[in-house]
Amino acid sequence: MSPSGPIVKVEGLVKRFGDVAAVDGVDLEIARGELFGLLGGSGCGKTTLLRLLAGFETPDAGRVLIDGHDMTGVPPHVRPVNMMFQSYALFPHMTVADNVAYGLRREGLARAKIAERVAELLALVKLEGLDGRRPAQLSGGQRQRVALARALVKRPKLLLLDEPLAALDRKLREGTRFELVRLQEQLGLTFVMVTHDQEEAMSMATRLAVMNAGRIVQTGTPHQLYERPVSRFVADFVGVANILDLGNGRWLAIRPEKIALSVDRPDLAHAVPGDVVDVAYEGDRSLYRVAVKGGPVMLVWRANVRRVEEPSFRRGQPVWLGWGNDAGQVLDE
Ligand code: ATP
Repeated sequence: MSPSGPIVKVEGLVKRFGDVAAVDGVDLEIARGELFGLLGGSGCGKTTLLRLLAGFETPDAGRVLIDGHDMTGVPPHVRPVNMMFQSYALFPHMTVADNVAYGLRREGLARAKIAERVAELLALVKLEGLDGRRPAQLSGGQRQRVALARALVKRPKLLLLDEPLAALDRKLREGTRFELVRLQEQLGLTFVMVTHDQEEAMSMATRLAVMNAGRIVQTGTPHQLYERPVSRFVADFVGVANILDLGNGRWLAIRPEKIALSVDRPDLAHAVPGDVVDVAYEGDRSLYRVAVKGGPVMLVWRANVRRVEEPSFRRGQPVWLGWGNDAGQVLDE
């Protein structure tokens, strides 16, 4: 297989635990250099799929190819893959440097070479000078970076990350997103990242797969998933969507920011009157819940572009909602 082929190819993969098909017939290709996100609700099979790639689980059917090689029967430590766990699984009694060096020592690499590689990795994750500390003497963000350095030290072709930012507080998580993306691009590696946080997945991934009940229901770029969801499930799972029943087994999914809100009837292809039932001021934007006359309650976002002292529309106020023909996505499932 040429090195230009996909780094990961998954064919008809199935993994059952008793009656539960945790992974239920997955086909997937991931290209070199991608930061690929696996997204889905709790129990949809994301972690199991990641563990099948790593070799910690054996499939009941199908196969995994990495870099063109069939991984059937290949144990985890021989695969060109490393996995970073949500808990980080650092050795508490070892220093930062020893934690990072661990995999290389097991390989029997020369001392000087190990020291060189550890220093290189610690510089990469910006932990210079902390090599003598133990995990308990580090902040959550620093521990996360030690785990990352340890996962990268053996230069895997593929790094699997299970909820890599889940243990960090919100502010730190947002900064760390950019750091991870920068590292991945700088090293030219392929990352496969599991997360249940759709905002995190959207902001980081080159492509995403949305899973439901062991299956992939859509694969695409963040834009494709958000603007062109293939089903109500995806529309609802990725971001916020108003889903309107068009009858005859068809629905319209329309995002709250794509709807215009006005006092007078708008000059748009679709205009419906309603009443504001709730207003939530969120600083950068306000969320309005509007009960459409004889219809559903719809969510509308308005960006607070100018400084406002009062909401533009009040609870109980009659308003118009409007949108153009291309504002939403028509769905038949
Ligand atoms: P979460 O976001 O909650 O971690 P997930 O999408 O990663 O969920 P998995 O951990 O892959 O989901 O689990 C998929 C399904 O398989 C679940 O129903 C889970 O209970 C089941 N499962 C996973 N591992 C095992 C196991 N070792 N033994 C039995 N059932 C398991």
